[in-house]
Amino acid sequence: MTNTRQFDIVIIGAGPAGLSLARSLAGSGQQIAIVEMLNEAILANPPEDGRDIALTHTSEKLMHDLGMWQHIPEDQIGTIRDAKVINGKSNFALHFDSLGSGADYLGKIIPNHLIRQAAYKEAKELPNVTLICESEVTTVHTDTTKGTVGLADGSVLECALVVAADSRFSSTRRKMGIPAKSLDFGRVVIVCEMQHELSHNDTAFECFHYDQTLAILPMYGTKSSVVVTLPSDMADAAMAMSDDEFSADIEQRFGGQLGKMTLVSKRFPYPLVGVLAKHFAATRFALVGDAAVGMHPVTAHGFNLGLSGAKLLADQIEEAARNMKDIGADAGLQRYETAHRRVVLPLYHGTNALVKLYTDNSVPGRVLRGAALRAGNFLSPLKKRIMHQLTHIESHAK
Ligand SMILES: Cc1cc2nc3c(=O)[nH]c(=O)nc-3n(C[C@H](O)[C@H](O)[C@H](O)COP(=O)(O)OP(=O)(O)OC[C@H]3O[C@@H](n4cnc5c(N)ncnc54)[C@H](O)[C@@H]3O)c2cc1C
Repeated sequence: MTNTRQFDIVIIGAGPAGLSLARSLAGSGQQIAIVEMLNEAILANPPEDGRDIALTHTSEKLMHDLGMWQHIPEDQIGTIRDAKVINGKSNFALHFDSLGSGADYLGKIIPNHLIRQAAYKEAKELPNVTLICESEVTTVHTDTTKGTVGLADGSVLECALVVAADSRFSSTRRKMGIPAKSLDFGRVVIVCEMQHELSHNDTAFECFHYDQTLAILPMYGTKSSVVVTLPSDMADAAMAMSDDEFSADIEQRFGGQLGKMTLVSKRFPYPLVGVLAKHFAATRFALVGDAAVGMHPVTAHGFNLGLSGAKLLADQIEEAARNMKDIGADAGLQRYETAHRRVVLPLYHGTNALVKLYTDNSVPGRVLRGAALRAGNFLSPLKKRIMHQLTHIESHAK
């Protein structure tokens, strides 16, 4: 006999986006199952993955409201006060300072594994949440009456709404027949943490060298998150270097601006693929986090969008529940889709255009980006707009 369990919502994927959505629905009265393929010990103590997540003011507030921020040790939170964008070997930099944004700082930066751990700690305490770990989803089906999720152990979960939060390579999205456009940037990003002799003065640097980029993001103390984007063959060579060779290479790429630099973590390579789902919602189904939109990390918007999208969806679900309406009805899901898409599209396409501009090594490309940097410093409305995007992402449906 099939073991069938009933829930209001089934979330597939206990990453930061799926867990944040569940936490946003604390007190909503909704019974939620979260299906995750990893085991629970890994969720409780996620290993370092090299990603240090730059967070907007909006995300900081959302994480506070969800109780996640309070789990992050103070000495693991870096502050980004200024940001400089440097083109090739030029001495000229596009400069964003926190004074110009009207805030004390542009954003904060926290290691991803601590965000994951904080989200897990908050979600696992909730009486309305059931975590089903080490579990593989075999089938997903929705119709106007219900959603049905089949698991590899033969059990079945029935619900009013299925949410996929299972990464940019979402197999649930594919099972639901929702197409996604992928953009393979043909490059690999290597992320790691480095200690350095001189202070970073809370400044983030984005250096666009020909065919390669280097971002140095200020972490707590004299440590920075280092993000190097390279063509695949060069990335293989960089991964094969000894720690000392790699440290010297980054120090030299950065022109020694932070003095001696020393690798203090493992190096983690990520192939760069951007993904945008054609729809964020379907019948009794929604996509959140990277499953909806997987961003190129250069503009650091991925998790910020994941959080704001989870809030938008949670608001729609709560409103329906408050008004005794169907939480999986099309109307609410369409409002989520419209509101989230309006925020996502300019950031997704804008980021991809920026990546194209800064990896185009033709002579016109180089001239254009030099001009764009200079213009950016002087066209203050443009700069203000970029600063607003750096510090805020909307999380309310209009
Ligand atoms: C190098 C790098 C730097 C980044 N820097 C930033 C930054 O500065 N700022 C920012 O905002 N964002 C940044 N991001 C993006 C950010 O890391 C992601 O947006 C975020 O982690 C996505 O969270 P998620 O929960 O949607 O997906 P994931 O973190 O991918 O989690 C998905 C979860 O689903 C589980 N899962 C997958 N498939 C299944 C299945 N079939 N069944 C059950 N479970 C499944 C996985 O085990 C995992 O637990 C960066 C990304 C990279 C790669």
